[in-house]
Amino acid sequence: MISIQHVSKWYGDFQVLTDCTTDVKKGEVVVVCGPSGSGKSTLIKTVNALEPFQKGDIIVDGISVGDPKTNLPKLRSRVGMVFQHFELFPHLSITENPAIAQIKVLGRSRDEAMAKGLKLLERVGLKAHADKFPGQLSGGQQQRVAIARALAMDPIAMLFDEPTSALDPEMVNEVLDVMVELAQEGMTMMCVTHEMGFARRVANRVIFMDRGCIVEDCATEEFFGNINARSERARQFLSKIL
Ligand code: ATP
Ligand code: MG
Repeated sequence: MISIQHVSKWYGDFQVLTDCTTDVKKGEVVVVCGPSGSGKSTLIKTVNALEPFQKGDIIVDGISVGDPKTNLPKLRSRVGMVFQHFELFPHLSITENPAIAQIKVLGRSRDEAMAKGLKLLERVGLKAHADKFPGQLSGGQQQRVAIARALAMDPIAMLFDEPTSALDPEMVNEVLDVMVELAQEGMTMMCVTHEMGFARRVANRVIFMDRGCIVEDCATEEFFGNINARSERARQFLSKIL
């Protein structure tokens, strides 16, 4: 479903990604972790072409992200992305938030888009708040709207970049619960997160990044099962967060 093939990226002279290679199969959940600045956000943003890269290629559902002929807005619309800071449209209600791109990008009617928006709000437990605006909701609620908005586009895969790290602790679980449900329904997911409980529970694989490189890429049981077999950097990292 997502094949990252020898991807390298530079910001000027600074190499932010070095020869990154991994495959995420349909229905697989992959957690990406690693120290701050290791390139996690940059890597997952290359997958839906929010960040260009200079070397290698990424194939998403058979489509080459690196091919200049690829229709990137179309590709982006099929790969849902959820960010740390929600990035909802503040002037639109939380039903309109998931509706707008359906209308503008997918050409759905307003009625159809709003109906789907409402259905997705129900799914993330926010139907009772449907007429509110993002500013009237808690962080955890806003993040659930962001997930609903991404799902409204019928994505073939979902990318998450630290979706819970800006939340107060008591709101983390309500967002993780939605993600767990999605994973259990078979959604293909790449999640940058340091929520190792989530990783253990639903991830098929864990990728550990350090200084722009994928240093570890292994089955979840293997990753947590024998921490002594992990690289020095991964062990140091895990010792701080486990
Ligand atoms: P964090 O855990 O803090 O979110 P990260 O692993 O997501 O970190 P990235 O945001 O991908 O790391 O950044 C990787 C490196 O690239 C960092 O050293 C960062 O300073 C650098 N970087 C990111 N964006 C830019 C940019 N637009 N221009 C130059 N350097 C950048
Ligand atoms: Mg980041």
